[in-house]
Amino acid sequence: MHFHRKPYPMEDLTGPEEFFCQLADLEAQYQGPPHRRPVGKKALLAAALAGLTGLSLLGAVAASTCTVCYAVSNEGDPPLAYVQGETAYTQAVSQVEEQVSEILRTEYAYPDQTRVELAIAPKESVQSAEELTASLMETVPQVREVWVLTVDGVAAGACSSREEVEAALELVREGYSNENTTSVTLCGDIRINLDYLPAEEVLYDAETLAGALMVPTEEEERPLLTVETVEEITYTQAVPVPTQEEKDPALLLNERKVIQVGAEGREERTDRVTRRCGVETGRETLAATVLAEPTPQVVAVGTAQGVDAAKGRFVWPTAGQITSPFGYRYIFGSTSFHQGLDIANAAGTEIYAAADGTVVWSGAKGTYGNLLKVDHGNGFATYYAHCSQLLAEEGDTVKQGEKIALMGSTGRSTGPHLHFEVRWQNEPIDPQKCLP
Ligand SMILES: [Zn+2]
Repeated sequence: MHFHRKPYPMEDLTGPEEFFCQLADLEAQYQGPPHRRPVGKKALLAAALAGLTGLSLLGAVAASTCTVCYAVSNEGDPPLAYVQGETAYTQAVSQVEEQVSEILRTEYAYPDQTRVELAIAPKESVQSAEELTASLMETVPQVREVWVLTVDGVAAGACSSREEVEAALELVREGYSNENTTSVTLCGDIRINLDYLPAEEVLYDAETLAGALMVPTEEEERPLLTVETVEEITYTQAVPVPTQEEKDPALLLNERKVIQVGAEGREERTDRVTRRCGVETGRETLAATVLAEPTPQVVAVGTAQGVDAAKGRFVWPTAGQITSPFGYRYIFGSTSFHQGLDIANAAGTEIYAAADGTVVWSGAKGTYGNLLKVDHGNGFATYYAHCSQLLAEEGDTVKQGEKIALMGSTGRSTGPHLHFEVRWQNEPIDPQKCLP
């Protein structure tokens, strides 16, 4: 940052302390006649030197707070600055010319209307060449001082005053804030630097600069200035319905039945939300208060299997005499397991579907003879074997009690009867325990 020091006012040089500086001090500081620039100042310098010599001859002794130096001024104006030697002035002028040429992108010469005169001034008012450069820059009408905002070294824009830039940053803070915002952090290396621009350059006002800082850049797809905000948001939301399951032996295994309809609850939550340029990057729940408890959804889940599950589902498939029950029996000279129930009657006796279902087999099948298989769903199926005639076809939907076959003695059979099987998950179960 450039440093600007106000020129020491001429009036302050009239006090006795300033005039009666120590002679030794004067001689030590004085480094001979000035350089040629500016031209035509020799007579003035000579006069000044004469005056100083006169001063020293007075033998005046005062506090050594003053020094012999050069006053730089425009004709008729108070001095712009004091410098130690004329070299400082010539250095400053060439610095100004170099800087202004660069800013204007054209050759610039500093107007030679400045007077450089020997003078006495308080030591602390003497400027370095660098400080004088800044003082002279202020006198160049083609350039102006501007305050440039940089973010991580990238210039975002320039305003006429530091306050304007600070106002822009405040607008950015406001732009990312709402009534819930608890903190706003401007990220990155943010600097406000004094610089020079051509005088005709249009500068940003606070609003324009703020806008430039908040609009995503083309390359990055995010604004030049990253702003992190923290908000605390309070809101209400639904509480999901919990599900409760109750075992029900009246239902088939895994069969489900809603016995109480659930209802959502309400809760109030307070979240801390972190955003980066307005986009949420983090969320943390600070508090949650249930306003209304949810009503659970109660579901009965069946546990009934096999015979227990079959009860009440089937009707007798035909009329006749039970000649062989389900279970172990002695037949054809050996012990075997009878997988069904034999019901004997005259050939041609009607056979009915024991429950609603779909015919999944209708035709001859080994020792079963003419067989009809009906799938009842929920894992149940019934078999009707040894039929003389099958009255339903595979794929037919049949109703409980519907005539589906006629009794016969096909397959491995000793006389007309119905071999009736009930299967649950393909395992034969005792039909008599399933029937009324
Ligand atoms: Zn049988």
